[in-house]
Amino acid sequence: MNSIPKEICDRFAAHLYKWAEDYPRQLPWKGERDPYRVWLSEILLQQTQVSRGIIYYDAFVSRFSSIEALAAASDDDVFKLWEGLGYYSRCRNMLKAARLIVNELDGRFPSTYSEILKLPGVGPYTAAAIASFAFGEPKAVLDGNVYRIYARFFGVDLIPNAAKSKSHFQNLADQMLDRENPARFNQALMDFGATHCTPRNAKCETCAVRDLCFAFQHNRVEELPRKKTPIKKRERRFAYLVITDESDQTLLLKRPEGDIWAGLYSFPLIECDENHIFEKELETFLSQSGLEVLNSVQHSSKQYKQTLSHQKIFGSFYGIRVNSVSHYRLLAETAYESVAWSSLGDVAFPRMIRQYLEDRFSSLFEF
Ligand code: SF4
Repeated sequence: MNSIPKEICDRFAAHLYKWAEDYPRQLPWKGERDPYRVWLSEILLQQTQVSRGIIYYDAFVSRFSSIEALAAASDDDVFKLWEGLGYYSRCRNMLKAARLIVNELDGRFPSTYSEILKLPGVGPYTAAAIASFAFGEPKAVLDGNVYRIYARFFGVDLIPNAAKSKSHFQNLADQMLDRENPARFNQALMDFGATHCTPRNAKCETCAVRDLCFAFQHNRVEELPRKKTPIKKRERRFAYLVITDESDQTLLLKRPEGDIWAGLYSFPLIECDENHIFEKELETFLSQSGLEVLNSVQHSSKQYKQTLSHQKIFGSFYGIRVNSVSHYRLLAETAYESVAWSSLGDVAFPRMIRQYLEDRFSSLFEF
């Protein structure tokens, strides 16, 4: 790749700074230099809209004011605060990183890009953001906003998830970075992508760099960047068994590692596909469960749907009344727990289960 003339880089940066002054964007972590808070904001914002990220950022900062406080918290408390954000592997990695920093680095947050990159859950984008915002290291961020701006500005036709695409864009981003002011440049660039050079209806008419912008000059703004090749999502069907007893206890299972929603709680479930007929599976489950069933399907819910990055989950819920959940044969030896129905509001569930509980038993969730 040819190097970008310095004059273009300087002009782009000057217009970007002028734009950032004219259209300041208020965000609670803006200008923050504390690496814990910068890191927290970046982890919370991965795959999350900014408006939601702000709510969770405020909640985390007020509950866990330091990395020591976060590292000392129980998994269940942190998962509960995270509930609703999705992508729970981020939460698990966040906790791992906090405990690693406190237990192995004496609570000192790593201060260089290459050290930050070693933390669990931190990729090149997040490491560049923390290194530049908290420590002033000249590292260029490359997120979806930056891809879009440079794809349009330079007229790059590569598909974003193609193998050579990332290194091409990283090279552009590295060359365009204002190395004297990496934090200011990175922040302004991300804000510009989020609010001005937007995926749809980019504000080209008021853009100061439009005379240099390939896509604007060639009427290709809507076409660029090229779209990712869509991933075919695996579809799964879950039948949840909401088993309650005469003492208003219910059975919950802490989901294991190696599958979606690990560490969150779930009702026992039967995963159904074309080879599994729910009624037969339910009959087998109940006959082997050790439970004394009073009413085998007391109610059934509508079907719920939740889309994850690689899977689509369809879930239905079946209420089952038993004499006592304590008779469940796996209770003593597995991750199953007997939990009071009245305390379900404190349990961290996947969004689909919480939605069902809110729909059917809204009084449990009056926060
Ligand atoms: S002219 Fe339009 S497409 Fe080009 S950088 Fe400006 S806002 Fe983005």
